[in-house]
Amino acid sequence: MDFALTEEQQMLFDTARAFADKELMPHEDLLEETGELPPELDLEIRKKAMEIGLHACNFPTSMGGAGLDCVSFTLVEKAIGHVSLALAECIRRPNNILEACEGQQIERFRDPILRGEIRECVAMTEPDAGSDLKGMKTSARREGGDWVINGTKHFISNAQISSFVILFAATGEDVTPKGTRKRISCFLVDLDAPGVEVAPGYKHMGQRGYYNNIIRFDDVRVEDWQMVGGEGQGFEVVNTWLGPGRLTVAATCQARAERAFDVALDFAATREQFGQPIGKFQGISFPLADMATELRLGDLLLMNTAWRVDQGLPTMAEDCAMAKVYCSEMLARVVDQSIQTCGGMGVMADLPLERIYRDARVERIWEGTSEIQRHIISRQLLRPLGA
Ligand SMILES: Cc1cc2nc3c(=O)[nH]c(=O)nc-3n(C[C@H](O)[C@H](O)[C@H](O)COP(=O)(O)OP(=O)(O)OC[C@H]3O[C@@H](n4cnc5c(N)ncnc54)[C@H](O)[C@@H]3O)c2cc1C
Repeated sequence: MDFALTEEQQMLFDTARAFADKELMPHEDLLEETGELPPELDLEIRKKAMEIGLHACNFPTSMGGAGLDCVSFTLVEKAIGHVSLALAECIRRPNNILEACEGQQIERFRDPILRGEIRECVAMTEPDAGSDLKGMKTSARREGGDWVINGTKHFISNAQISSFVILFAATGEDVTPKGTRKRISCFLVDLDAPGVEVAPGYKHMGQRGYYNNIIRFDDVRVEDWQMVGGEGQGFEVVNTWLGPGRLTVAATCQARAERAFDVALDFAATREQFGQPIGKFQGISFPLADMATELRLGDLLLMNTAWRVDQGLPTMAEDCAMAKVYCSEMLARVVDQSIQTCGGMGVMADLPLERIYRDARVERIWEGTSEIQRHIISRQLLRPLGA
């Protein structure tokens, strides 16, 4: 079994890593201090990313992207994932749902995104519908030839700096043998349309500069052509086009855990107590060995999952769930132990560990909580046995 990267893959990783270290990392302190991503910085990074072909690298070449396969794209995510998310997101990897755009949607929404002119956000979650998305209350009802949308979404990332939202809303109900089921549909909605309000979100413990917003829809009228996929096909759209979004979270977690570990390793080798480097004490060195082993496992799982996605195996959902749950929980363990290794300095902002620690917490929650990932994995194990 050959685990080596090809020359092109290694070059892609090195290029993306060098870009992140040079163009993103120097701005981390600014974001921590202000909690804001300056728009001119966002634009500057986006333009530079376009120059070296990283912008929209997850889209097919026929649409203006770099056409990366999942392994190569995961390498990019790993290469830029160690820096603050708000900065990494300036290298835009647009939502793959936009690949499903047709007709007017292409010119009006998809192409300006691929040209780097605007940003999009995605709105599924609601105050009363988080893990249970099928319980969403936001509705779109037929009126004339249009759809009229009402409801509230919350926790929506970066809505305040986006031009439109990929919105999921219930367009009706079906009676099935298992009870009533909502028909969920997907719409592209301008965020400056009459009746749309983008409000500030909650104060987050981490991820400074990565905004979360509340979006309210009050009789918002959209035309028929703004629906993506057919009516009631919202989850099919997600399943077909969103692909391994959870793998992106896993790659970010892997990259952050590696960064935290490197800080701890360096500290263990250079910090002296009792007349010798603290790394000579087993209380410090054995956890380093455990962390290194977990990092190796995480990387193997991550890259193997990306490879499995590229093979088109039918197990994508549970494969990606395994990578997400393992890498996000591994990050929590590694950054916690890295802080312990560094003692008091570990919790000071002079080292990046306290920020990585705060930023890490949400990784076990968004894109599906750890419990939901375990549900996906266990369901695939038990279902064939009739349980
Ligand atoms: C900073 C941030 C940004 C986000 N960005 C976006 C975004 O851009 N767009 C978007 O649509 N959403 C976004 N989300 C929403 C995110 O995906 C949800 O927070 C997540 O899916 C969990 O939903 P919830 O927070 O409502 O928790 P809940 O669903 O209320 O869950 C609460 C707890 O109950 C557990 N639980 C729920 N159901 C089960 C079950 N069946 N079995 C076992 N345990 C269960 C959960 O695992 C969790 O521990 C974001 C969230 C955050 C925090």
